[in-house]
Amino acid sequence: MILVTGATGNYGKSTIDFLLKKGYSSSNIVALVRDEEKAADLKSKGIAIRIGDYNNYEQLVAAFTGVEKLLLISGSDVVNRGKQQENVVNAAKQAGVKHILYTSFERKNDTETSPIALLGKSHIDTENLIKASGLTYTIFRNNLYLDALPMFFGEQVLTTGIFLPAGDAKSAFAWRNDMAEATANVLTSQGHENKEYSLSNTENISIQEIAQDLTEIVGKQINYVSPPQDVYLETLTKAGVPAEYIGMLAGFAEAIKQGEFSTEKTDLETLLGRKPATAKQYFSMVYGS
Ligand code: NAP
Repeated sequence: MILVTGATGNYGKSTIDFLLKKGYSSSNIVALVRDEEKAADLKSKGIAIRIGDYNNYEQLVAAFTGVEKLLLISGSDVVNRGKQQENVVNAAKQAGVKHILYTSFERKNDTETSPIALLGKSHIDTENLIKASGLTYTIFRNNLYLDALPMFFGEQVLTTGIFLPAGDAKSAFAWRNDMAEATANVLTSQGHENKEYSLSNTENISIQEIAQDLTEIVGKQINYVSPPQDVYLETLTKAGVPAEYIGMLAGFAEAIKQGEFSTEKTDLETLLGRKPATAKQYFSMVYGS
């Protein structure tokens, strides 16, 4: 029995779809959701629904009963995520789960000097907790989703170009669906006990190179400007973007600039048994005609 948390989110849904596509029986899949109304499509696929909020420990213990493998998809509440995921790990242990799999993040800098230290801390704390729990584990070090980049570029990107203080470093951004497929492959095969995998692209690409890809995809010049941080902060503030959102965007841009997401690790390609989608293939899907 495999339980997938975050099953109403993008990664969870996609992972479940790949499990089904690979012939894994829906009767052996359980979806943890906090809002049953969002689970109609999962139910229609024959997936059992269990209700659980990461904040509610007792609910989690009950939901995890009889589960062998538990995929913990990291929570989206960045402020409370550390405690929430601690609940999940402890509840998994109490309920007798055998193997926990966790979607963490790829990085080079584990310290407080990382521009995304605030976001990263709960991931690192959860990794440490899982490793200390005695549960069999698999940790996915997920690179930045290609799917997240349109948010960094803004809705007007094809008119204004890319304005982001991300310098010229390269990153191994990957497509979320490829990561979910690799996750499904790990869930349904053996030999992944106590392993860590980097779910990163085989291709490393700079934002300048992405601007060139966009230029070719849409058939018009898309420029990339990497402003100084203070100019970026001021520009977004003047445009009325909320402060915490600006902080998040600036932190990730700086992390890209520092090369946090560049890696030569090929686990994603190995787990997929093929090359992951390139940035150009992904942006052709998003911006192509
Ligand atoms: P998503 O679509 O926002 O899905 C997040 C899932 O977590 C949703 O199903 C949500 O439930 C569930 N969730 C949040 N808080 C919960 C709680 N307290 N109790 C139970 N369930 C809870 O995100 P995604 O695209 O699938 O990505 C998965 C995770 O990766 C994110 O949550 C985030 O931690 C991380 N992430 C990574 C990147 C990257 O570039 N690598 C980018 C963005 C996010 P509801 O449907 O009820 O809200």
